[in-house]
Amino acid sequence: MPNVVSQIAAAITADKTFLLTAHISPDGDAVGSIAAMAWLLIKLDKKPVIFLESGVPSYLEWVELPCEVLTTADELAACQPNRIIVMDCGDSHRSGEIMTEFLAQSDAPVINIDHHLHNPMFGELNLVDTNASSTGELVAGIIDQLDVSYDGFLGESLYLAISSDTGRFAFNNTTARAHEIAAQVISTGLKPGDFNEKLDSDWSINKIKLWAELFANIEIALNGKVAYLTLPKALFERTGTEYSDIESIINYLRKIENVDVAMTVRETESGSKASLRSHGAVDVQKMAASLGGGGHKNAAGISLELPLEEAVEALLATIAQNLVLNEA
Ligand code: 5GP
Ligand code: MN
Repeated sequence: MPNVVSQIAAAITADKTFLLTAHISPDGDAVGSIAAMAWLLIKLDKKPVIFLESGVPSYLEWVELPCEVLTTADELAACQPNRIIVMDCGDSHRSGEIMTEFLAQSDAPVINIDHHLHNPMFGELNLVDTNASSTGELVAGIIDQLDVSYDGFLGESLYLAISSDTGRFAFNNTTARAHEIAAQVISTGLKPGDFNEKLDSDWSINKIKLWAELFANIEIALNGKVAYLTLPKALFERTGTEYSDIESIINYLRKIENVDVAMTVRETESGSKASLRSHGAVDVQKMAASLGGGGHKNAAGISLELPLEEAVEALLATIAQNLVLNEA
């Protein structure tokens, strides 16, 4: 691992223009890792270019980036990076259709920085550590190698990445290293209270009413082992909200007693997208992978080309196969 970190640091030192990308529908780790890497490159007098097919989600629009975010195939075709850095993608396809095509035809070597299970090591250089709390934690290792400080937006970006993937330092993936990086960021001036205000305040009335409606409509299945929500597009249209408004509600489904798997299934352009969460030994990565998805042991996701109701059925059947159910 340290060897790869120094190889990546050497590649960054040697080259000039870097295309940075992460998984589609980026979360705090994806956006934070991209932002931290972009600020690192600026500090080293390099040129970062960011591509995110689905853009930056509205709840992360406050994140400071040193360059614009490209979102279209035409914009991407016009950029000629020396290197491509793909972050927080369990496989290269997670970067989205446009980026996947670009990766296939580009000669630029790829640096793959990730912490998902079963990453196929698609880069020329692969910094993949499934024990890392977040991709941000791995980016911090590269920043250390290049002897750059965590002050300003760079530090805030690292804090965003790590606190997002650890559920604000609450999940079992919260490493000592995650706390050490956070401590260093705080020592350079970040105020955790102010940071969390930016990340999660100013809820619209529509948003909080949607939370109330969804809490009232949680569905329980498989002898109480599964709690889930079905999220048709029409729900968001009717309530003037978007999926990112309730993305974290799944963590509340997981709190219900005896629930082993929490699930949300939302309607998408191509069918359905599910998120799965679990406790301890219950492995949702395995369940998602058996249907073509992936992620981590306790947090996984999957896209299905099925209408919502059929997707829920297929997911419940897969979960049932994997769980030991206490028959009543
Ligand atoms: P979320 O449920 O928040 O979308 O994702 C949970 C975890 O599963 C994240 O680490 C995410 O990268 C991964 N994940 C989500 N959707 C997919 C998918 O369709 N395929 C794969 N391989 N991983 C996914
Ligand atoms: Mn991550």
